[in-house]
Amino acid sequence: MNAVNAAGWRPAMGGAEEPAEKFATASGDYGLMLEEPLSFELGATDKCGVDIDAPDRAPAPGLSKFLRKAAPNLPGLTEPETMRHYTRLSRQNYAIDLGPFPLGSCTMKHNPRLNEKMARLPGFADVHPLQPQKSVEGALEVIEQLADWLTRLTGMASVAMSPKAGAHGELCGLLCIRAALDARGETRDVVLVPESAHGTNPATAAFAGFKVESIPATPAGRVDLEALKAKLGPNVAGVMITNPNTCGLFEPEMKAIADAVHAAGGYVYCDGANFNAIVGKVRPGDLGVDAMHINLHKTFSTPHGGGGPGAGPVVLSEALAPFAPLPFVTRGADGSIHLVEEENRGEGHARSFGRMVAFHGQMGMFTRALTYMLSHGADGLRQVAEDAVLNANYVLRACEDLLPAPFAKSGPCMHEALFSDAGLAEGFSTLDIAKGLIDEGFHPMTVYFPLVVKGAMLVEPTETESKAGLDRFIASLRSVAERAKNGDESLHTAPHFAPRRRLDETLAARKPVLVWRGDAG
Ligand SMILES: *Cc1c(COP(=O)(O)O)cnc(C)c1O
Repeated sequence: MNAVNAAGWRPAMGGAEEPAEKFATASGDYGLMLEEPLSFELGATDKCGVDIDAPDRAPAPGLSKFLRKAAPNLPGLTEPETMRHYTRLSRQNYAIDLGPFPLGSCTMKHNPRLNEKMARLPGFADVHPLQPQKSVEGALEVIEQLADWLTRLTGMASVAMSPKAGAHGELCGLLCIRAALDARGETRDVVLVPESAHGTNPATAAFAGFKVESIPATPAGRVDLEALKAKLGPNVAGVMITNPNTCGLFEPEMKAIADAVHAAGGYVYCDGANFNAIVGKVRPGDLGVDAMHINLHKTFSTPHGGGGPGAGPVVLSEALAPFAPLPFVTRGADGSIHLVEEENRGEGHARSFGRMVAFHGQMGMFTRALTYMLSHGADGLRQVAEDAVLNANYVLRACEDLLPAPFAKSGPCMHEALFSDAGLAEGFSTLDIAKGLIDEGFHPMTVYFPLVVKGAMLVEPTETESKAGLDRFIASLRSVAERAKNGDESLHTAPHFAPRRRLDETLAARKPVLVWRGDAG
């Protein structure tokens, strides 16, 4: 075992203790070193962790057939054993409170504790969506204020608050486009999606029943405007453009794209999941966007990962606003707030396309996002974008001599730095660098995405990392990249410092073993 990490220490094998001072100089955050058996392996199934008296009465007549014939196959752990088991497991979990998550496109950043405090106020945390409106006016006020911030920050006419995440927001936007086309009496069935789009874009368009046609990227990593224009026609319902795109680049021709699409009778959907790079700097409404989802759980710092919860409000242009889904919150002329659950604006008026979810949205996420906005203010939000871009460019320039940065020649990046694995030693690739970073104590970056770059590594440091934190990450990334360039064989078997070694990527995804079957098999 020759594995060494940037700090020069080796994993303790066979009981050999490593000198303590090596930990003190370690560059990463070593938090993934515990092996923990299953609770079934820890506790004998013939024991019980608590004393429960035998029942003093026979079961009621008719219920005796439900009596257990054999003891349940559960591990017999005491309360402290149980607590320690789960606490040890929780320490195996890499978390944003343990170290940075450089996952490009995911925007994993610190969640201010103030957000959490506000979201836990009983007036927000304990409300029920079926409560009478009179009793939840404060919560409705939060939704309305948040909607107001979102429309002002984006320069758009209105916002649909109910979609639950980014991809759900994409569906909402496309259903608005479909409804608007229906109202015009047109059936356009093609949606244009650039090669550099986030994978959810073509998936959503196909799910919504559109045919997806791809637009190539230019050598500079942007949408090819001429190729896009050549595809426009009477069948094109619209385009879906991620801006900033998944190469971490701003699409400078967005306005020209929008003008061309509008002239051809289509609508412009913008994937605004990366709004954190431009919030306070650019208003998508000024660029001709008709619909854009905003991932509150990225730009406005609400927690995400592990499947949710998220919130993906969709801002809409004047053209699409009338078709927004129900329910929505409005403010009357007298300042009072109403939740509109059913729409009846009479014959001849545009109608909502319907409803995407049972209720109005994610109250906890709304409260956190509004707290983030109010505590930063408009100037602070602009600085969020500036610092996110500054940090990404710092990583880009600190590593581009070792790892090729395909689009770095065309200027600064936005919120994420993109590298390729070209130039590593024979047989070494992005996966080796990702696994090596685990040994450095870091969560790996996004790998093999976007697809337009060979062996892509997409690093998004976010604005919440300090320079010292970025320097630690950069030192580790450089060290692993150098090992991959020099053909250090120990990288092929990394990670060495985590509870699990390298998994079979295909089997781990296709045949995960998630269930304990016990003796019954
Ligand atoms: C995260 C992301 C999405 C999807 O958002 P979810 O909330 O995960 O559904 C879509 N597009 C881009 C560019 C993203 O970064």
